[in-house]
Amino acid sequence: MRIAVVGSGYVGLVTGACFADLGHEVVLVDNDEKKLEALRTGDVPIHEKFLPELLARHRGGRIKFSGDLQAATRASEAIFIAVGTPPTESGDADMSYVESVAREISGAIDSYKVVVEKSTVPVYTNEWIHTIILRNGANADLFDIASNPEFLREGTGVTDFLYPDRIVVGVENERAAEVMKKVYGPLTSGWYYGRSDAIPRPDRAQGPPRLIITSAQSAELIKHASNAFLAMKISFINAVASICEMVGANVQQVCDGIGTDSRIGPRFLNPGIGYGGSCFPKDLLAFRAVAKEGGYDFRLLEEVIRINEEQRRRFLKKVRSVLWTLRGKRLGVLGLAFKGGTDDIRESPALLLVEELLKEGCKVCAYDPAAMERAKEVLPEGVEFAPDAYHAAKGADAILILTEWEEFAALDLERLRGLVRYPIVLDGRNLYDPAAMTAHGFSYYSVGRPPALCEEAGTGRSGKKERA
Ligand code: NAD
Repeated sequence: MRIAVVGSGYVGLVTGACFADLGHEVVLVDNDEKKLEALRTGDVPIHEKFLPELLARHRGGRIKFSGDLQAATRASEAIFIAVGTPPTESGDADMSYVESVAREISGAIDSYKVVVEKSTVPVYTNEWIHTIILRNGANADLFDIASNPEFLREGTGVTDFLYPDRIVVGVENERAAEVMKKVYGPLTSGWYYGRSDAIPRPDRAQGPPRLIITSAQSAELIKHASNAFLAMKISFINAVASICEMVGANVQQVCDGIGTDSRIGPRFLNPGIGYGGSCFPKDLLAFRAVAKEGGYDFRLLEEVIRINEEQRRRFLKKVRSVLWTLRGKRLGVLGLAFKGGTDDIRESPALLLVEELLKEGCKVCAYDPAAMERAKEVLPEGVEFAPDAYHAAKGADAILILTEWEEFAALDLERLRGLVRYPIVLDGRNLYDPAAMTAHGFSYYSVGRPPALCEEAGTGRSGKKERA
């Protein structure tokens, strides 16, 4: 099929590259000329596993990059809108990018097309897109709107897209449904999975995904409700972790006990410094705004947001209680991205914590495998950036683990111990077995688990009474 994808960010670029791998002819449209030029010349502007391979495979063949939305629309049977929907001051989603795309598309609808909302949008956006396209002169018989929310997670975007749990499509008639079935046919039929050059199947993947066809409104709600539920799961376990700290329980053991209940499941039960990123924070605000507009006061969501913010404050308090004073303390910070596997720093709890620590007068030497370039643009001068975790740890009064990168869970602890000024690790992601840390001479503070303390040299203090 001929497909246009509008917006070549985290979602659009992955979607376009994966559609090309499924055999479709794709035009990726963006209004950022610099980004387009970079893509044409072989750059990959975001850090996403398997994306460089897919772009190299299809660039100049089944994927083209263009700034001409109207030409791309004329050439395509389906136009996927994947532009940003950031929050406004009041918390609801800013739909102006989506509206401007809808306006521009309308002038180029010269044969039947399905306009697909891939961006995360509030309920009724499909009707608004329909109205805008009609208002701008398109023939009502020549287009339909479909809602096709995207569930990929940054860092595993390509495999999430190609091996999804399900594909949700919201449409109002059979004609549009047929087009969407054709778009995803290579996945739902299992054809893609039999190919020898398919992107490798991740461990958790089941068989071919189910295509769930719903009304457009239901599809829009499914996306907001899914993200709200996942954020709630994170805040729930973070609240449980706080109680564990108070009563001396171990949240990892509690998670094990809860997560093995098949009704609950183990995923997203990872205590830490809270969720961040470009989706959960904004989607929760948008969902709350949608509910409010409809007359429902969704206070549960407010609590989820409050616990998430509280979680960062608790970690900061922990740093203070371990180091006593912060002014002038040198901290080796591991992780700046909002989660492992991505260079995205939008609403990153790691970055927000670094900013707070700087305000308190700490000296920060940070390392992140992918997000340093982006972080340099937003962090104040004076923050040092290290070429690896060991350089970040050199001379540190404490090491802070703030992002769950795999490489941070596999550090050479002996080497690390030889580099730091004081052997103190504050782990906001629970990457280590506390006993392994103390065996290497570190005092180790994590989330929801009792602190694991090593006798501090020269003080005779075991710190056993210390509360983290
Ligand atoms: P992004 O900011 O990374 O990318 C948006 C892209 O759209 C940019 O390249 C921008 O230049 C382009 N753009 C903006 N206006 C345009 C226009 N008028 N014409 C052409 N291009 C235009 O955003 P993203 O993270 O990819 O998110 C896109 C949408 O998908 C959002 O609604 C988001 O909530 C949703 N989503 C994101 C994720 C994720 O993990 N990032 C996951 C699922 C859903």
